[in-house]
Amino acid sequence: MKRKIEVSEFSDFCFGVKRAIHLAQEALRKYPQPVFSLGPLIHNREVVTRLSDKGLRVRRDYSSIKRGTIVTRSHGIKSDVLKKIQAKRISIVDATCPFVKNAQMITKRLAGEGYFVVIVGDKGHPEVKSLMSYSPRKVAVVANRNDASRLKVDKGKIGVVSQTTQSFKNFRNVMDELMKKKFTEIRMFNTICSDVSMRQMAAERCSKANEVVIVVGGRNSANTKKLREICDKQGTSSYHIENKEEIDPKWLRGKSRIGIVSGASTPRWIVDDVVKRLKEL
Ligand code: SF4
Repeated sequence: MKRKIEVSEFSDFCFGVKRAIHLAQEALRKYPQPVFSLGPLIHNREVVTRLSDKGLRVRRDYSSIKRGTIVTRSHGIKSDVLKKIQAKRISIVDATCPFVKNAQMITKRLAGEGYFVVIVGDKGHPEVKSLMSYSPRKVAVVANRNDASRLKVDKGKIGVVSQTTQSFKNFRNVMDELMKKKFTEIRMFNTICSDVSMRQMAAERCSKANEVVIVVGGRNSANTKKLREICDKQGTSSYHIENKEEIDPKWLRGKSRIGIVSGASTPRWIVDDVVKRLKEL
């Protein structure tokens, strides 16, 4: 059977991940050693391993670090942690993605103006934790419409922001639900990253046009998981892999059109490897 393989338009690092990797590499060359990242710099094991081979050390916690340089992740870090690191006089390279930074600054401004902040996102995700830290006393995280309907906040004014990797559809559903409540004022900020939105639209197109979709990206990557969900919703068989070794030939049986989409922290070379493997199969 002759197979057609379609690689979705957005299949390389996004701007924020490219920037974080560039800043980490620059820190390894120019800043005081040793150089650390607080948690894996991005959600991609192969890239993290390559950086660690070049000398980037991963630490979960900043408190044991006494000297050198800390590179923050593209997801951002909590404001109190940032302040504590600055107080230690360790060199710090802030690789927080500018889109995440924007969401952090909006959250901070809303908190300063007395708004209760509602974050649409996944509570346990590092980016959401960093956003929460900018409005520590008046904040709630809602994952979806159901969460929003259960939200218990006195009537008053609320400001809504989104985790950058959310789908616009989910954000809109949450907004619809919040509008039913008796708030005196609702301010909405669409802080969804444009790269993520375009990737999601491309994934939807790709899954509609193909019989099976391979979603390439880190297991912990929120935006990759969303891509998989989007492909599933189209009713197309989809499989989430981190690299070409995980492809199961059974997935391709009887399928002539195969699509490939990839998360924002997946480099083009991993996608190319997957294409090569599919052609071999
Ligand atoms: S997905 Fe968007 S918000 Fe996240 S790092 Fe990439 S560019 Fe920044």
